[in-house]
Amino acid sequence: MTATIIDGKTIAAQLRGKIATDVAHLNAAHGIVPGIAVVLVGADPASEVYVRTKAKAVAEAGMRAIDKKLPVTTSEAELLALIAALNADPAVHGILVQLPLPPQIDSHRIISAIDPGKDVDGFHPLNVGRLASGLPTLAPCTPLGCVMLAKSVRPSLAGLEAVVIGRSNIVGKPVAQLLLMENATVTVAHSKTHDLPAVCRRADILVAAIGRPEMVRGDWIKPGAIVIDVGINRVPGKEGKSKIVGDVAFAEAAQVAGAVTPVPGGVGPMTIACLLLNTLRAARALNGLPALN
Ligand code: NDP
Repeated sequence: MTATIIDGKTIAAQLRGKIATDVAHLNAAHGIVPGIAVVLVGADPASEVYVRTKAKAVAEAGMRAIDKKLPVTTSEAELLALIAALNADPAVHGILVQLPLPPQIDSHRIISAIDPGKDVDGFHPLNVGRLASGLPTLAPCTPLGCVMLAKSVRPSLAGLEAVVIGRSNIVGKPVAQLLLMENATVTVAHSKTHDLPAVCRRADILVAAIGRPEMVRGDWIKPGAIVIDVGINRVPGKEGKSKIVGDVAFAEAAQVAGAVTPVPGGVGPMTIACLLLNTLRAARALNGLPALN
């Protein structure tokens, strides 16, 4: 069997196109341009690349990007003051604080200070609680993207066995919550799980969010399963260069699975598209407009 390759790049581009259309309508009908503030403290090169990519995607969607670059010496009080100003700014509908933050700043205090209605990362405790309660909320972007990719090949996940490897607050746990909301039967596995390969072999949907290069092998996968690979791991490649691989041994998985996401080009592009989606949703909600499908 050869799996369908789930093309995250194309699916993300389609989603971004739809968002751009919705943004244009929002502007034409209500004069609202969704604005997202991206806050970067310090000069981490990887974060800077990511922030630039985000800014480009935001502009292409017809939204406004408000970039806030602060020095690495910024105090917690200074960052809290900036968050308060962004919370109060009606032109800002989404606030994203790039993590990790320097050690003098408590990231939990910062995330908790963001207006939950502008928390487009979905990390504020109130939004985490709403997601856990099955209430409408701003859900974290990467998990949203994972579920959209799974639904791109199987529109109803109801009744399916889902196994999520990883229980982080930013990926594993929210993916599990979203799969539960889709009526899947969800198991969350982690580093203390006994006989992980056997647990994975039960899965009709297998989500790997581990951070271990190619740990999930072909014989861990149930024939025909949907495999969503969240991992981003840099490993040595050819001629002294490095390359990016996922948490799943892709070539092996492609022989067994029904569908599998590649790395790169799978979950990654969906994360930014879902950030735009959350910003659009936040802009509508903050202006008292009904949610779109
Ligand atoms: P974390 O390190 O926070 O969590 C990893 C999880 O994997 C933990 O729950 C850990 O278990 C579990 N784990 C680690 N080793 C094993 C093992 N040997 N067997 C079973 N479970 C194990 O990572 P994140 O959730 O933040 O990220 C996971 C991956 O996803 C990374 O590669 C990251 O780069 C990538 N990522 C990709 C994004 C994208 O946009 N595509 C966005 C965010 C992350 P335990 O809790 O017991 O320690």
